Amino acid sequence: MINKRIVEKLGYIDEEVDVNLVESIRELKKSKNATILAHYYQNPEVQDIADFVGDSLALARIATTVKTNIIVFAGVKFMAETTKILNPSTKVLLPDLNAGCSLADSCKYDDFKLFISKYPNHKVVTYVNTTADIKTLSDICCTSSNAVNVVNSFSSDTPIIFAPDKNLGSYVKETTKRDNIVVWNGACHVHSQFSLDKILELKKLNPDAEIIAHPECPKPILIVSNFIGSTAQLIEYTKKSLSKKFIVVTELGVIHQMEKENSGKSFIVAPSECGCSDCSFMKMITLKKLYLTLKYELPEIVLPDDVIEKARLPIEKMISIK
Ligand code: SF4
Repeated sequence: MINKRIVEKLGYIDEEVDVNLVESIRELKKSKNATILAHYYQNPEVQDIADFVGDSLALARIATTVKTNIIVFAGVKFMAETTKILNPSTKVLLPDLNAGCSLADSCKYDDFKLFISKYPNHKVVTYVNTTADIKTLSDICCTSSNAVNVVNSFSSDTPIIFAPDKNLGSYVKETTKRDNIVVWNGACHVHSQFSLDKILELKKLNPDAEIIAHPECPKPILIVSNFIGSTAQLIEYTKKSLSKKFIVVTELGVIHQMEKENSGKSFIVAPSECGCSDCSFMKMITLKKLYLTLKYELPEIVLPDDVIEKARLPIEKMISIK
């Protein structure tokens, strides 16, 4: 009971621990039949202890195949909610309930419902970086990996609402060459803060480096980039490219995986206006919180049945598209 009260107060469990965290997490994972899923933006030590590491689309797909009693999601809240929606009978744990997302926060349920009502006959495509409530208002979800293909799954004369990321929305609009897409005005505090001037300065100092960027970045950055792609696509690109050096314009956690998969290549973190190229929400998950979450099986993601039922279909449609 005491720990439930700590979760209600802090959003996570806090107490002194005097154990080897890596060993104890491994033991608890086994004894409790649990799986850890981690996003590429997690701290390196969290990625290294996970059973699966991936981007949003890959993790959503993996979540449908996991058979353990417990899934611990090392990522942010909307991702853990997506996992719960796909596995309603599994206990889904998020080590810190405060691990939110500035992009998901930029799209509130009542505001979005009103917005949709102004565009009758439009299909609603939402990026997976939204709350479960927003997903209940969607025809289909997408990730940055399949956003273009999801939009192209509708006939070219179907009007579309795309939310919540304005940069990804404008990238999709341009790539699909559609002028019938209305884009919600939301943004991620990490990707919208990268500095074009500083990136160009860095490129001058490293003329042999390729600039690779996530489509959540503003258009001027995408224009100067050699490659644009989702987190998983950026990692794949670094493996295939003949270049030995990359300026990486996305959350810096991804560099851990790039380094693991590319010996002899180097990766430079792109500078941002605020000096913060990492997502403070993602970095709330620590080994200590992972350990305490497994030990107490808290905090747990709980969603109303009707939300799970309505949000499931757009997520399943998303997973079915490459
Ligand atoms: S990097 Fe941006 S979009 Fe991704 S979880 Fe953090 S705030 Fe949300």
